[in-house]
Amino acid sequence: MILNPRMKFHCPNCGSDVAPARVHLGYKHCMECGETQAREVRMTWCVAPAYNKGAYQLITNPDDLKVTNPKRTI
Ligand SMILES: [Zn+2]
Repeated sequence: MILNPRMKFHCPNCGSDVAPARVHLGYKHCMECGETQAREVRMTWCVAPAYNKGAYQLITNPDDLKVTNPKRTI
């Protein structure tokens, strides 16, 4: 998509100006609103080894973390 550099883009959340270069990269929100959204999304996942000596994997279910500790005693 080719954007006119003179066009003004506004954040749909707060209405502040969004840099055309940022819109060109595919972002629709301003830096502040984008940061807030990214932090909210980041709170929903983590990476951890799913089993002993396993590779780090994306974990989205908190219950999966309870079984990743090899020293855990029930
Ligand atoms: Zn905004």
